[in-house]
Amino acid sequence: MEFISTRGKSPSVSASVAIRTGLAPDGGLYVPKTFPEVKIPESPGNYAEFAAEIIQPFFEGDPLYDDIPEICRKAFSFDVPLHWLNDNQAVLELFHGPTAAFKDFGARFLASVMERLQKGKNRDLTILVATSGDTGSAVASAFYQKKGIKVKVLYPEGRVSSRQEKQLTCWDGNISSYCVTGNFDDCQKMVKTAFQDKNLAKDWDLSSANSINLGRLLPQIVYFYYSSLLFLKKTGKKPVIIVPSGNVGNSAGAYWAMELGAPVEKIVLAVNANTTIPEFIETGLYTPRASVATIANAMDVGDPSNMERLRHLFSDHDQILENMEAVSVADDLIRETIRNTYKKYSYVMCPHTAAGEWVRRNLYTDGPSIVVSTAHPAKFETVVEPEIGRTVAIPESLQGMLGKSSNFSLINPDFINLF
Ligand SMILES: *Cc1c(COP(=O)(O)O)cnc(C)c1O
Repeated sequence: MEFISTRGKSPSVSASVAIRTGLAPDGGLYVPKTFPEVKIPESPGNYAEFAAEIIQPFFEGDPLYDDIPEICRKAFSFDVPLHWLNDNQAVLELFHGPTAAFKDFGARFLASVMERLQKGKNRDLTILVATSGDTGSAVASAFYQKKGIKVKVLYPEGRVSSRQEKQLTCWDGNISSYCVTGNFDDCQKMVKTAFQDKNLAKDWDLSSANSINLGRLLPQIVYFYYSSLLFLKKTGKKPVIIVPSGNVGNSAGAYWAMELGAPVEKIVLAVNANTTIPEFIETGLYTPRASVATIANAMDVGDPSNMERLRHLFSDHDQILENMEAVSVADDLIRETIRNTYKKYSYVMCPHTAAGEWVRRNLYTDGPSIVVSTAHPAKFETVVEPEIGRTVAIPESLQGMLGKSSNFSLINPDFINLF
């Protein structure tokens, strides 16, 4: 099984090499040369076993092929339930992992793969990750105590919530947290500069864990396939799946699941006030812009990095129009949906999930559908609690992190301070 770069100017590689490399040498993103055939059990059954059925064919001929079932067993050791609002409509809860957001799936799979690739190497691998919130904690938690790997997490001072900061700084051992006196762009720039520094490359083996890494994308195929099969089994219908989206890594997983044959009627992206994607679908012109701040802040992205994979999958504008749909949801409508959903179903949603729910109510009303819930509402309590008029109970895993002491270094935005 070979992976090629979206820009077509790098040699094709196996899954392990694509994951270890991150970005292809020509600056493109790795995508499958052709999609493999997968064997799907009639009844989805155990999630980790199902995940191995989907992921293993992508590792055909790769040194890690035989390890995939074990990697999946360890990485996906939590529930992936559908919560039914009524006979026809469900919410796919992707927040039962250790940091209560869907990024746990990708980060945990990636960490297990990288640990295995490090075996027998005499130099530690150092992962640099710049974060505006959820990514950093998922990566820190997933790589904690992994052998032969160190992680440096960078986050902007004063721009993450206090609960988020706690989750970014409650680590020790192989995880170091850096509070940078600058904004998220400064953090990202430090990481980029570190990768380009020739002297640093002599002494440090550096890698990244951001959402363009193939190792984060492959596990994001699985739950779309799994949940659409469960849905079909229960209702006899194929669902429309609505995915709250920012960098479109999660939705890229959904489109790849359809390529593999998942019984999905259609995929719809819900975005916030950042409208790069809906505009692109409408006009065919891709115009990246600076992000605007919203209450669904994990989707505040003006230049979604995984768009390159979707533009590779759908080669012209007609195909884009045929396959893609995206709807922008403003903050006041997100708030209103958090309120209404609680009133009608006694169900509490995070702001990102509520953007998806608004799209369902207004575009698909009673149709068979799944809204993807990307985070637990307790992670965004300052937005959610005023709308529903009560506190949201914190899941046990998060509670554990919030109780630990904070460890971090406060640094100026110069990459040299990381080494
Ligand atoms: C990261 C994130 C998103 C956006 O996912 P993408 O893969 O970047 O499109 C949505 N909701 C939450 C809670 C997130 O953490």
